[in-house]
This record gives sequence, structure tokens and C-alpha cells, in this order.
Amino acid sequence: TLGPRLVKGALYTYVRPEITHSPELLAVSDRAMEDLGLVPEESETEEFKQVMAGNLIISWDEETGEGIYPWAQCYGGYQFGQWAGQLGDGRAISLFETTNPATNTRYELQLKGAGKTPYSRFADGKAVLRSSIREFIVSEYLNSLHIPTTRALSLVLAPRSRVQRERIEPGALVARFAQSWLRLGTFDLQRMRGDRSLLRQLATYAAEHVLGGWAALPAKLADPSTTSTTDVSRGVPAEAVEGSGADAENRFARLYREVVRRNARTVAAWQAYGFMNGVLNTDNTSVAGLSIDFGPFAFLDSFDPAYTPNHDDHMLRYAYRNQPTIVWWNLVRFGEALGELMGAGDRVDEAGFVERGVAEDWAEELVKRAEGVIERAGEEYKAVFLAEYKRLMTARLGLKQFKELDFDHLFSEWLDLMEALELDFHLCFRRLGGVGLGDLESAEGRREVAGVFFAKGRPPAQEGAARERIANWLEKWGARVREDWGEGRDEERREEMRKVNPKFIPRSWVLDEVIERVEKKGERDILKGTMKMALNPFEEHWGWDEGEEERFCGDVPKYRGMLQCSCSS
Ligand code: AMP
Ligand code: MG
Ligand code: MG
Repeated sequence: TLGPRLVKGALYTYVRPEITHSPELLAVSDRAMEDLGLVPEESETEEFKQVMAGNLIISWDEETGEGIYPWAQCYGGYQFGQWAGQLGDGRAISLFETTNPATNTRYELQLKGAGKTPYSRFADGKAVLRSSIREFIVSEYLNSLHIPTTRALSLVLAPRSRVQRERIEPGALVARFAQSWLRLGTFDLQRMRGDRSLLRQLATYAAEHVLGGWAALPAKLADPSTTSTTDVSRGVPAEAVEGSGADAENRFARLYREVVRRNARTVAAWQAYGFMNGVLNTDNTSVAGLSIDFGPFAFLDSFDPAYTPNHDDHMLRYAYRNQPTIVWWNLVRFGEALGELMGAGDRVDEAGFVERGVAEDWAEELVKRAEGVIERAGEEYKAVFLAEYKRLMTARLGLKQFKELDFDHLFSEWLDLMEALELDFHLCFRRLGGVGLGDLESAEGRREVAGVFFAKGRPPAQEGAARERIANWLEKWGARVREDWGEGRDEERREEMRKVNPKFIPRSWVLDEVIERVEKKGERDILKGTMKMALNPFEEHWGWDEGEEERFCGDVPKYRGMLQCSCSS
């Protein structure tokens, strides 16, 4: 039977998308087409629309029964810190895998909102237009910022599907793709079920087919207690430790470290670009280190580290400032799932060591050994996170090289003043990129320039003191820029800053307006215009509608900042 159920001993189930009546193709990402090795014109066919609507399964021959039949992945997860059991994927159905011959990258394409699967539990397998528009835009936007993310190819409206949430809403499907849809929760589930064999198979699959093969994983780390020169941020081992004793690192430990490193880099980019996932449960943390599962996500408006975009997140667990810690919390659960495999040291390679089953006392010993691996991976996580965060902030501030004092003297004070003066996080960077060093020479000039960071017509309270504080920072910053660039290259420096500080940010208020206009007013061009900006966020103009462009990229309208979103989507 096809009803919702607990599915043991399996990582996926074959299931077909429901039929979507009279689908309307609302939007396609040309960048996604390109990255899949398709040309934009191919999205104009009836066939394309029917595939994106789940009505046509091109990889499977109905008559002969040959080919690839669609499937839904099975995973569990810790939600808000609690083990929640098997919970997904209740509404994403994978269609097929495809490799772009030009880049040799393989992607798994899936439809979200395609109807019920055996993992749907009590829910309907649908997605509403509102959240589909949000996921579609943000996936492609994060990719434009060069932040690792799952991608979105198309957005289909299902006009006849009425979906019950807080109200009745139109349904939609997003076609999305990624090198892998495996989540940490995929591993959690097998751990909780005690399915050692499947866990080992899954880990092996992840190493061989998702993370580039065993040889591509980071080299063994030297034991940091004996070698202080190990540069964990770059993964360069001072010397390889041969696999023996409690410090032995086997290939599963290296797999673990690769997943840790990837996630460290991704969360560093979120912090540097003011992005919040909003529900960082283990089922929403990717094994490939991608930004994944876009529900109540948001970008910062004014800089408030305690802000959470998730309306139901009363404890602020998923607030901006907690993201690095929470992702690490999730990775520790992942380490526990891999515990037996990692703890077995070099003996894991003896055929079937774990499959044959280990005695309980042995298993405990293995997990204890793995604690050492997890602990060291924690140091590596911090180091990789910091290295990436510094690299991105250095570039965003227009500097060429990170200097140790920059962290306190420039980064911290820059963020502190944004917070204290309630300045817009993104506009501060973009506007700083427009500041000419020549205007910072006198104290008066600096106080004058300080005004560009204020929302138009809305200076902070105590404007004089605010200008003074910004002016002081600008003086230090100007000196550092000169130090890195020398004289006469200020135009070049501004150009470089423009390329790393986006003008367009898909903020909550912008997305709300887009949704409102598509859903209530039947507008369509607004999606095209927004996608132009999302795919090229560093541009100054897009030739869409200058008035709209400037409004969407400008100061957040009064009372439209720091909105929150509920999980129901
Ligand atoms: P999320 O909080 O979005 O990560 O949701 C957790 C899991 O619940 C997802 O992976 C889905 O599989 C499942 N889910 C959420 N919404 C629905 C729905 N409308 N129908 C079926 N499953 C759902
Ligand atoms: Mg999820
Ligand atoms: Mg979700």
C-alpha cells in the first residue's frame, strides 16, 4: 500500500509524482539551465513544462518498464534539539540524475510539492506558492553569491490545487537539483534504528559518489597534542599519523572531517553575508555542505545578531549568532552516527568488520574512540570557519590581505556600530564600496561621508555622535585600504568591492511583495525582474524597471524590516 508508513531497512522508496492539472510554468532559472548543460530555449517546450509539473516521467518507459523510476528519500532528524524520528522526504520526489558533460558534475533533480510519498506522515505532500517562490529565488541567489547551495530550475503553479495551511493557498512545485540531497538526518535515522549495515553502505556511498571519492577526502591529521604546527584550517597535516591506537584516523574519520569542513565554510559564508536558514535541524544540514531546505529563512536587515527569522523559534536557537554553534551541534550528532565506523581505526578496513556485528562492549569502546576524532574535528571546524569568515570579510571590506589586528580593529567595530546605530548590514558594505578615499582625508570629510550609511531621511538618534563613531572607524579603515592598495588605485578597489558586495538582497519584505503581486494580482513579469537581480546581484542596473529596481535595493521601508515567517509552508 502507498499510505504513510515507517520504512525500515531502506533509504528511499519508488513513488510517482501526482498529476498536476493545467500547470503554469511561472519561472525558469537560465543559470540553472546552463549549469545542467541545457540551453534556455529548451525550457520553452510543452515537454519541459510537463516534466517540471511531474506529469511526464522522461527517464522511465511506461511500456517496457525500463529506465529510472522516481523515488523519495527517507530521512529523520533532530528538530529543535529533539530526536524526531523518521520525517522526510514527505514532499520531494527525485526524478533522475543528470551529468553536465561540460563540467562533469552530476546532479539529482527533484520536484518539491509533488504529492504524497510513504514519508508524508500526516501531511499532504504539497507546497504552497508562497514558500515555493521563496525557495526558487533564494536558491539561485545564494549560488550567485558563490555560497554552496542546492539549486532551483523552475517554478510551476498548480492552479487547480488548493492547499490548506493557515488559510487555503495555491499550490506550486519547485524543480530543484543538487550534487546530493543527503542530509545529516539521513544518517541519524539509521543510527537510531541501529542499522549498522545500511549506515556503512550510506557512508561509503557518500564518500564515493558525493564527496569525490576516498582519495579526495582530507589527509589524516597529525595528533595536535604532539604537533602544534598542524594547520587545520588548510587541512595540511604536519605529518601523517599511521592508523594505530586511539588516535588512529581511518577513512570514515576522514569522511567525517570532509563533511565538517564543508559545513564550516558554508556557515562562514552565511555569517559573512547575513543569511539565516531559520530551521537548522539535522535534516536541514547537508552532507555535501550545501545550504539546503529553505523555509523560514531570511537575510539580516539591520544588524541584530539575536534576530531569528523563524516565528516559532522562541528560544532563538536558529538566530543569526547561533548558526555556527548549531551547525556544529548537528555535526556532533553526525559524528555519533559514524561513531562505530570512525572508532574502529584501521581495523574498519578488514572486510565486514562492522557488518558482521560487534559485541556491545566493543561497540561502546569504538564510540569512545570516536570521541577523540569528533573533538579534533571540532577544532578543525573552528579553524576552517574562521579562515573562511576572515577571507570573506577581508574581501567585503576592500582589503587584500587579512592582518591579525583587523578582526578587532575593523570587523568587530564595524559590526558593533551597525548594531548600535541600527544600520542596514548589506547596504553598509555596498555603500562603503562607493566611498572614495579622497573624501576621508579631513575629519569633516569623514563625518560627511558617515551620512551615506543612514537610511534616507532617517538618521539614527543622536546623529552627531553617530557620525563621529562612523568617522572614527572610516579613518582606521581608510588607512588599512591605503596600506593594502597604495596610492592611485582607488577606482580599482571600488570595482573589486562592487563584485563582492551585492546591491540586491532578496529580503523578506521584497519576497513578500513579489508573492503578493504574483498570487493576488496575477503579475508575472515581476518574477522575471526579480530573477534578473537574483542572478546578477552585484550589478548596478538591470534594465528591468529602474524605479522598482531602486526601491527593491534601497533602504528597508519603515516597519518592513526583520519580519518573521512561520514553518508552515
Ligand atoms: P522542514 O521543517 O521543512 O524541514 O520539514 C521536515 C520534513 O517534513 C520535510 O523534509 C518533509 O519531508 C516533511 N514535510 C513538510 N511539509 C510537508 C507536507 N506538506 N507534506 C508532506 N511532508 C511534509
Ligand atoms: Mg527539511
Ligand atoms: Mg522545509
